[in-house]
Amino acid sequence: MKSKIISRRTFVKTGAASTVFTMAAGKAMAAAKSSKGKTPIIVCSRGENWGRKVLEPAWQKWSDSGNMLDAVERGANIVELDPTDSSVGYGGLPNEEGVVELDASIMSGPTQNCGSVAAIRGIKTPCSVARLVMERTDHMMLVGEGAKRFALAHGFKEENLLTEKSRIRWLEWKENLSDKDDWFPPADGDYSGEEHRPTGTINVLGIDSNGDVFGITTTSGLAFKIPGRVGDSPIIGAGLYLDNEVGAAGATGRGEEVIRTCGSFLVVEMMRQGMSPQEACVYACKRIIQVNKGKVNFNDKFVAVNKKGQVGCAQLRSGGETHCSYITVDGFKALKAEFVNAK
Ligand code: ASP
Repeated sequence: MKSKIISRRTFVKTGAASTVFTMAAGKAMAAAKSSKGKTPIIVCSRGENWGRKVLEPAWQKWSDSGNMLDAVERGANIVELDPTDSSVGYGGLPNEEGVVELDASIMSGPTQNCGSVAAIRGIKTPCSVARLVMERTDHMMLVGEGAKRFALAHGFKEENLLTEKSRIRWLEWKENLSDKDDWFPPADGDYSGEEHRPTGTINVLGIDSNGDVFGITTTSGLAFKIPGRVGDSPIIGAGLYLDNEVGAAGATGRGEEVIRTCGSFLVVEMMRQGMSPQEACVYACKRIIQVNKGKVNFNDKFVAVNKKGQVGCAQLRSGGETHCSYITVDGFKALKAEFVNAK
């Protein structure tokens, strides 16, 4: 055990040293192909609108710092801090008791190290807490109260994450849930009319000019979930997986299905066996359909990138966010997901 800790500390130190090096070298290299011929790329599980909002600042961070882990974190933080997105971070839809609980994971390819937090309350940027779990502890996952206390120890502020918009949507859900309880909708029934249990989540995956792979998944999870429910997003291999020899993958949508198929791990392993990212994402969707014996009334989506900088995206059904996007030296591009409908 001790040797594990020592070796862990050693690589943390090594990582710090290489970060300094990368930052120095990065400025010169970031906007161009490196001498190794790798083209940096950052991928986001969302299309035009959010994709741009996430990827342009992430690319800027990459260009300024030459640190791809900082870049993907910057991109994910944008959505986490934006109260207008109801599926990630601040402004996320709460659990069935009206409390926002967030899940996030992070992975770093050069060390194959990872960190995650689940069902964390009161902290706007769970992916940054996950990063600290990865870099500043000998653990990989912290949950609930422990995750929050760890964040507070690192200087994060505890805040109310429930926006007025999310509170009203929660109340709408609660008041329309059953005619056998004592909660009623308003007399005119006039709520916002938005989809009752929308899904969301965001994956941000990056490959730097050395070909090193990094990734983040962050979410408020299933809207109106049972308190303590944890989805796929903070589970390494489910909502996020990467391998520095192969590439990275992330998932969004109904997390229970992604957990029971080890979805992102499956995508990366199929890429390892020679599939393109597109083929591997389709393969993982088909596995979910197979596990469900062809009966699929939910959505899941995979996005993946391989070491050649090829991007793939597939989802079970149309609806929701139907694109992913990526950014390279050639600029921003949105890519439509392939729909792998259940027969
Ligand atoms: N995958 C997330 C979860 O199950 C939710 C989502 O992507 O909408 O927690």
